[in-house]
Amino acid sequence: MQSIAEIHRPARAPRVELKSPATSERSVIELDQIHKVYSTGDVEVHALRGVSLTINKGEFVAIMGASGSGKSTMMNIIGCLDRPTRGAYILDGQDVSELSKDERADIRNRKIGFVFQGFNLLSRTSALENVELPMLYVGLDAGERHRRAMEALKAVGLEGREPSHPNQLSGGQQQRVAIARSLVNRPSLILADEPTGNLDSRTSVEVMEIFQRLNREQGITLILVTHEPDIAEYAGRVIVFKDGRIQRDDKVLEPRDAARELTLLPLED
Ligand code: ADP
Ligand code: MG
Repeated sequence: MQSIAEIHRPARAPRVELKSPATSERSVIELDQIHKVYSTGDVEVHALRGVSLTINKGEFVAIMGASGSGKSTMMNIIGCLDRPTRGAYILDGQDVSELSKDERADIRNRKIGFVFQGFNLLSRTSALENVELPMLYVGLDAGERHRRAMEALKAVGLEGREPSHPNQLSGGQQQRVAIARSLVNRPSLILADEPTGNLDSRTSVEVMEIFQRLNREQGITLILVTHEPDIAEYAGRVIVFKDGRIQRDDKVLEPRDAARELTLLPLED
């Protein structure tokens, strides 16, 4: 797994000029016939076999599928952590399939927030400093970094916990710090790979409540990988991968409402 410091690192290349959206104004992601072949020694693994997909602004999409079906490979490509072997990827109207490593780092810093199963927080740093980290490389001054980090921690219900280190926080609180961190650069897209995989049931619903709120109130586009069908039901669309291809792509007619469920769930201590 990539560390957060590798994901959000300084881009040495000059900034990529962002073009105004050329294609559909509503789509954040357009994948056209994406293939990914990993070559390790003399073995080739064909991890994605022609994936075409459009995700519009403000969608909340859950990705499911058996282990090895290509979910993480696709998230790495969408997150500009890796490049497709073949095919085109348009992010926010810009072709990013051919960008260099540094150009992709620049796009990541400014457009994409990441949330992981294992939280990926820096252990010797406060919640506040963890949340400030992605802003180090986008040219915001210290005052603005502080202001935005405070605001993001408040948005996830962690006001007052800014000085706490990860080992002083519960798993659910650590994941909320990670969500706050994913928000501070005002990304057009948040990618979450198994964000509730290490959390108990109630805490999972709390995390889904935050995702649903960000999606509904701020219109943030969310893509979430999960193994749990009941977690996928909080999304508005479920895509199932099989053997490197999209097997199903369904609208969720009545997504679950995490906020409402929380009022019905008994509080545990
Ligand atoms: P999922 O996230 O759905 O479990 P992955 O995208 O991780 O699936 O993997 C898809 C296929 O690609 C698997 O066969 C996996 O072993 C292979 N794979 C993934 N990453 C690499 C890599 N870095 N090098 C070689 N093979 C890989
Ligand atoms: Mg995976």
